[in-house]
Amino acid sequence: MKAHDGMYIGGDWRPAAGQDTIAVVNPADEQVIAHVPAGTAEDVDAAVKAARAAFPAWAATPPAERAAKIAALRDVLVARKDEIAETVTAELGSPLQFSQMVHAGVPIAVAGSYAELAASYSFEEKIGNSTVLLEPVGVVGAITPWNYPLHQIVAKVAPALAAGCTVVLKPAEDTPLVAQLFAEAAHEAGVPAGVFNLVTGLGPVAGQALAEHDGVDLVSFTGSTAVGKQIGATAGAAIKPVALELGGKSANVILPSADLAKAVNVGVANVMSNSGQTCSAWTRMLVHADQYDEAVTLAAAAAAKYGDRIGPVVNAKQQDRVRGYIERGTAEGARVVVGGPESPQDKGYFITPTVFADVTPDMTIAQEEIFGPVLSILKYADEDEALAIANGTVYGLAGAVWAGDEAEAVAFARRMDTGQVDINGGRFNPQAPFGGYKQSGVGRELGPHGLGEYLQTKSLQF
Ligand code: NAD
Repeated sequence: MKAHDGMYIGGDWRPAAGQDTIAVVNPADEQVIAHVPAGTAEDVDAAVKAARAAFPAWAATPPAERAAKIAALRDVLVARKDEIAETVTAELGSPLQFSQMVHAGVPIAVAGSYAELAASYSFEEKIGNSTVLLEPVGVVGAITPWNYPLHQIVAKVAPALAAGCTVVLKPAEDTPLVAQLFAEAAHEAGVPAGVFNLVTGLGPVAGQALAEHDGVDLVSFTGSTAVGKQIGATAGAAIKPVALELGGKSANVILPSADLAKAVNVGVANVMSNSGQTCSAWTRMLVHADQYDEAVTLAAAAAAKYGDRIGPVVNAKQQDRVRGYIERGTAEGARVVVGGPESPQDKGYFITPTVFADVTPDMTIAQEEIFGPVLSILKYADEDEALAIANGTVYGLAGAVWAGDEAEAVAFARRMDTGQVDINGGRFNPQAPFGGYKQSGVGRELGPHGLGEYLQTKSLQF
């Protein structure tokens, strides 16, 4: 695949400071498809300087003009939709149709929503005898993961630009090609030089240099809880705001009055989607004891259908990690009803969709984020026990509740310690705030709440 051998800084593709490169591998066949430069602290410094230089003019650009640039960026993404899908399929391994619908479709929807919001958002409010100004925070350091590579980029860059911030992006090393395509799109859309900058590279090198850079005013990170804690600590020491979107272990609570077959089928689809590499995936299914055996049978049948419908996981390390969790589940006494640790084919980092029954809340597979196509089904005796299980992890990113009566589901959802709950299946809303309670993170993305993350307030008293 075609790749740039430089960094997009200050409106141009510039040669990287160092010689090292990163090989991009197609996880479906293990072939190297491209190389991108491995950025250093020097590249990060150049990008931050470009973003700083561009900040005053971009911050002073009227919101309607910023909105027009985001709308133009959205239009370029629409025009290049097929290319986006092909690129994500090549570097992440997801089936092309899924890449078209989700990996290209969702970021286009999010960019569109920020084009509208940037134009309509109120950057000034009156409180009594004060006028409160909502001003851009400054230069944003954005660090993104590989699982929804373009969505994660757009969910940070679009609101930052709408707010009047400038950005340096360090995308995941596994999926840098769609990040390069995004930089081309920003250029084509006429986003002014230095407003958006891209440095590809390794997390502990380029990512860390960005998170620690004095010229960065806010760090927005999505990825593992371990790295999130490190970034939070670095930002804390510098008294710098930080947004963290971390892991999850979301509960899919099926109350006895629910349509069981529908809840189980949608629940399985939710977990298997993107090969289980979704931070908000409903990886724990909670079923009443009386319906447990039926739910396990339904889930096994549903999961078995996903065998040839999902792609591989992102890399060999992730494949080993997921297999390790499956082995650990069996060792701790859970029962595999479909799937298992064996790879279904010789080439590619595939994992067979796996369903565990007889999972108890203390087991590793009920507590830790697996990030693979693995579902754990747990049993509860009454609503209070279901709630204790649902809330009984360090995470609180998402979840679902199913009930015959919507009000019953909502009443349960109110008691859940989690940032987002889908009621009877829910429906994606690109404007709804997304983010975690507890160790799932700090801050919110998407919609007006996501835009607010990139603003700071100044009050003028009259
Ligand atoms: P990661 O946290 O290592 O990587 C995420 C991003 O952070 C990448 O761009 C990476 O280069 C960068 N990074 C890594 N180390 C860094 C450091 N020291 N300083 C600054 N930046 C750094 O995540 P991963 O290894 O790609 O995935 C591991 C686990 O993270 C997954 O199994 C999953 O549990 C979780 N994860 C969560 C999400 C989510 O959306 N919440 C997304 C991807 C991964």
